[in-house]
Amino acid sequence: MKPSFFEFTLDELKGHLQSLGKEGFRSQQLFRWVYQMRVSDFSQMTNLSKDFRRELPEMLDLSVPRVLTEAKSLDGTRKFLFDVGEGQSVESVLIPSKDRLTLCVSSEVGCNMACKFCYTAKQKLKRRLSAGEIVGQFLAVADRLPEGQRITNIVFMGMGEPLDNPDAVFKSVEILHSPWGVGFSKRKVTVSTSGIVPLIPRVTEAGVRLAVSLNGVNDDVRSRIMPINKRWPIAELMKACRQHTEESGDRVTFEYVLLKDVTDSLEDARALYRLTRSVPCKINIIPFNEHPNSGFHRPSEARIERFQEELMRLGAHVLRRKTMGRDIYAACGQLTTAANPAPIAL
Ligand code: SF4
Repeated sequence: MKPSFFEFTLDELKGHLQSLGKEGFRSQQLFRWVYQMRVSDFSQMTNLSKDFRRELPEMLDLSVPRVLTEAKSLDGTRKFLFDVGEGQSVESVLIPSKDRLTLCVSSEVGCNMACKFCYTAKQKLKRRLSAGEIVGQFLAVADRLPEGQRITNIVFMGMGEPLDNPDAVFKSVEILHSPWGVGFSKRKVTVSTSGIVPLIPRVTEAGVRLAVSLNGVNDDVRSRIMPINKRWPIAELMKACRQHTEESGDRVTFEYVLLKDVTDSLEDARALYRLTRSVPCKINIIPFNEHPNSGFHRPSEARIERFQEELMRLGAHVLRRKTMGRDIYAACGQLTTAANPAPIAL
């Protein structure tokens, strides 16, 4: 089977072409056509010889994952379901806001981290995506945008735990960032983790932003809702986060899901403040987005506000993540391709 163009870095493609008896420098020309000019037909790459253009379709696959369905929310959020072969699919979500257009990409088909509040977790890990499949989600969505619109931010917060698939994730970051690739600023790329502590230094090394799905303020609660905490408890996680901020000079974003009567008390808000105050950070509170048979509930508006106000009163930098795409199951923790859930009322 011919390899996908999108799996290659510039140097790797050079080596690949040379192994086929072709001139290595052609890789630069190909990268320019594909990433800068977004030409997806070899025959249109006019500075390549006609013979080479004829041979290229046999050597490289230029197709990106196919969009199976696209759903649009009333709030403008768009959810794309991608075919990644063998009957498997992943989702990407495009989230518009005032001055941003954020693409949330998936890194795995399903996920093995088993976070209790997460819809994706119901679909166990089927396989890890390749770098090309991650880059492909970006390109397929970017190609569908109207003239003049562009993706401004990329977050690895879709299906899967990005640090469970680090080689593909960081290779895709390299391709998305490099001047020979998409040329996307690393400052606009965020990798989120549920807490695979030994791999947090790779986020630092890659120069991208770190988000941590915290969701519990002590080991009891966190281990109950996020089994990964049994392996790497909160103290180790916070130590790794502090180290990241010291080495990167950047803040960490802590994601905190508000689950009614589990993580949403005023005492939880105070404990969250105490836990995070020694780490330069911002806290995103995310009112739980309900999905079938989760066993959890969304707190009332009054409780959500009380929680946020308490953190603000204490001096935390806290934002409430606006719930986007809730009607199409595109909101945080709702991504799954396992079933076709019925639409929920907003
Ligand atoms: S929240 Fe993230 S890490 Fe946890 S099960 Fe869901 S997709 Fe996996």
